[in-house]
Amino acid sequence: MSQSRLKSCIPLPIDHKILVSVIEKAKDWALMHGVGMRDKKHFNKDVIQIAPFVLLPSPFPRTEFNKAVELQPILNELMHKVAHDDEFLEKTLQNALQVDEFTANLFDIWVKVREEGITQPISLGMLRSDIMLESRCPHTENQCAKHTPYCSWKQVEINSIASGFGHLGPSLSFGLFRSDYLMQRDGNRIKQVEFNTIASSFGALTSHLPSMSRYILRQLGHGDLIKNMPENRALSGLCTGITDAYDLFGVPSAVVLFVVEEVSYNICDQRFHEFEISEKRPDIMIYRKTLNEIYEETRLNEKKQLILEDRPVAVVYYRSGYEPAQYPTSKEWDARLRVEKSSAIKCPSIHYQLAGTKKVQQALAAPGVLEKFMGAGATTGRVRDIFAGLYSLDFDENGERAVDMALADAERFVLKPQREGGGNNVYGADIRDALLRMRHSRERAAYILMERILPPLVAGYVVRPGAAVPPPITDLVSELGIFGVIIGTKDKIYCNKQVGHMLRTKLADANEGGVAAGLGALDSPYLL
Ligand code: ADP
Ligand code: MG
Ligand code: MG
Repeated sequence: MSQSRLKSCIPLPIDHKILVSVIEKAKDWALMHGVGMRDKKHFNKDVIQIAPFVLLPSPFPRTEFNKAVELQPILNELMHKVAHDDEFLEKTLQNALQVDEFTANLFDIWVKVREEGITQPISLGMLRSDIMLESRCPHTENQCAKHTPYCSWKQVEINSIASGFGHLGPSLSFGLFRSDYLMQRDGNRIKQVEFNTIASSFGALTSHLPSMSRYILRQLGHGDLIKNMPENRALSGLCTGITDAYDLFGVPSAVVLFVVEEVSYNICDQRFHEFEISEKRPDIMIYRKTLNEIYEETRLNEKKQLILEDRPVAVVYYRSGYEPAQYPTSKEWDARLRVEKSSAIKCPSIHYQLAGTKKVQQALAAPGVLEKFMGAGATTGRVRDIFAGLYSLDFDENGERAVDMALADAERFVLKPQREGGGNNVYGADIRDALLRMRHSRERAAYILMERILPPLVAGYVVRPGAAVPPPITDLVSELGIFGVIIGTKDKIYCNKQVGHMLRTKLADANEGGVAAGLGALDSPYLL
């Protein structure tokens, strides 16, 4: 079935002259409000350029948006329970650990921390559940009729032809019209792409996006449409996670530590968190350090406090540490172990990071597993509904079946390793090559297979730094991220909430759409 299409929020194309002028204004708006990034190609610390963005907010069905928002605290709690279920994590990851050195190193830290005795039982989760709309309906027409309104088959009029016309008298006329209807399956139900438990970014930048989209719509004479754009308070919501955790730590002289990359290209997103906290809580001092600097500049005292510049660290917020390249030597691993052993509240704790692996996502979709964590009620059904097909590639009957399925129709799937940060997945014909190569190798267990989601298309303009203005109209697809904050111990949850969203949009024929990787563009939802 072909990909369905959503109508753009205003008719396209926009007149050339108006388009050029509004893009000029929008770029300046972006620059002057910090919707920016550092340039990877020509790096200069003093220069910030616009982050790529979509000129018009992309349409998103309101009911599905609300569903995603409502489900977030439920997903937060689910991940919190998963992160605290030692046996489940161990069993789920055991095969991948044999062949994936990076995940094995994280796992070793978790084992060491538990062996030594957990110093800080409280974890801070600043999470992001990523979802796409699946445009295909999973049912046959017959099933849909039974499940209405679940799949909402719609009668769409495709033409109205005046097939007869006459007069009955001077004031009475009648028309004989023939309408042709097409039954259209309106799938467009949310499916989860993944669940991020570490360095979930773009909460800050996308908090500015509704305001920017409102400005653009007004400049285009469509100010009446802004009522359909939800507010986004992701930045302040995420920052309350850090300040609430700080207060739970309860030491007035303590500081907050952001773990950052050697070079932060996504600097605006990170710095806005610091500015927001500084504004609301002038008593809290924030430091930014790389893992290497943490190795050199921190120590554990006798109370296992992490000491930085003679002050204990209350909260450690990782914006780095999620991919192998961020641990070039054993020093970075030692630093990570030191932090995990300390009494600081970590965002995330090491077990949260392990719970965010693709392998865990796949295990949660297996029969009976959600029920184990959530019981068998209606809420469990709602969560299961947003799961796409996820398959283990372990060396057992299920794994062999999954390999056969993928070899038979590779385009239907995405092959995913235990990695974060984008650019690691395998698509299309490459899946066949990878699986043929790994079929009899243990390496296979480090991957999972996922049904490929086919989101609806929408036409739009992507504005990129340095690109020709105006850009062409292109077919785009979107990915919505919902942010959640959860703070708690194994047995007690202090805070659990949904705090905002982010939308990023990419060319319809691109496999991935990471904004920091230069593939996707920032966006904001226009609710239908
Ligand atoms: P990462 O943790 O590296 O971000 P993701 O699972 O989010 O890994 O995959 C990266 C990107 O690949 C997503 O943002 C999305 O664009 C695309 N992608 C991942 N899974 C699917 C899927 N099942 N269907 C369609 N696209 C997908
Ligand atoms: Mg991820
Ligand atoms: Mg992702």
